[in-house]
Amino acid sequence: MDHKPVLGIIVPCYNEEEIIAQNIEILHNFLDLQIRGNILSLDSFIGIIDDHSRDRSWAIIKKIAAENDKVKAIRLSANKGHQYALLAGLYEFYQSSDCLVSLDADLQDDIDVIPDMVEKFSQGNEIVYGVRSERMHDSNFKRVTAVAFYKLLNMLGVNVLFNHADFRLTGKRANEELKNFQEVNLFLRGIFPLMGFNTAVVYYDRKERQGGKTKYPLRKMISLALDGITSFSVVPLRIITFIGFIVFIICLALMVYALLAYLNGRAVAGWFSTVLPFYFLGGIQILCIGILGEYLGKIYKEVKSRPRFIIEERI
Ligand code: UDP
Ligand code: MG
Repeated sequence: MDHKPVLGIIVPCYNEEEIIAQNIEILHNFLDLQIRGNILSLDSFIGIIDDHSRDRSWAIIKKIAAENDKVKAIRLSANKGHQYALLAGLYEFYQSSDCLVSLDADLQDDIDVIPDMVEKFSQGNEIVYGVRSERMHDSNFKRVTAVAFYKLLNMLGVNVLFNHADFRLTGKRANEELKNFQEVNLFLRGIFPLMGFNTAVVYYDRKERQGGKTKYPLRKMISLALDGITSFSVVPLRIITFIGFIVFIICLALMVYALLAYLNGRAVAGWFSTVLPFYFLGGIQILCIGILGEYLGKIYKEVKSRPRFIIEERI
């Protein structure tokens, strides 16, 4: 690439009045440095998405954006959550950029690796994932649940990068293609790996939150985890079929046992006719639900109408 890329740093923000002004300043100084160092184009900018904060955040952001031409800002009409705020930012800002980096407002993700990301982008990587090399600063609880979550997702066949959250660089092409993923239940870190393209990874240490509280309480974490699983995997449905099949096999084994008992004259009167139908019907019923689930899974995939392919180049 001959010209220096135009980078947009997009930051979703919800009730961050304690830290937002200071962090925008940090980002602004960072951009300035990169622009003067000839790494980024002069048109690079910061794009803030206020996810309908209830505190003074928006007033603060509005004031900064009015005074600083490097800072653009939008506000959502209601609190939609981190993933949708990010999506809004990607949609809103991709056209005026060559690439976007998404970043949390608390600057827990290390901005010093952004030049590496940009370099990897310039080398032809459409998506560059930020991956934490360790989770020292997270609480034990968060660390353990996060590891379990990634393991579970991978077991269920969902393609996500271990220890990658939403700190990533995406090129204009990828951001454009994102519009063809019309899902309502949004799990961005599952969608980008589906796209293909050349991708790269940069490693960084995640810092502690410097101010304010986490906006991801357990309730939201569980909801995000469920979205991640149910938006990308039909394995849970298949497990039903499997359970039904197992119960059915147990029933067959019982039948053989009962028959042998009868032939040996050890059968208890009425046992066979009372117990076996339970297992038999139970097994058949679960199996049938599983079969329905298989079709439901197909419908579910159709309804998503995800793009079946993306053309990378035309000559
Ligand atoms: N956030 C948002 N909407 C919400 C919750 C969070 O835009 O409903 C933003 C928040 O301001 C922050 C980012 O999403 O910039 C990640 O949130 P947080 O740092 O609280 O999550 P954690 O790092 O604890 O997982
Ligand atoms: Mg955070």
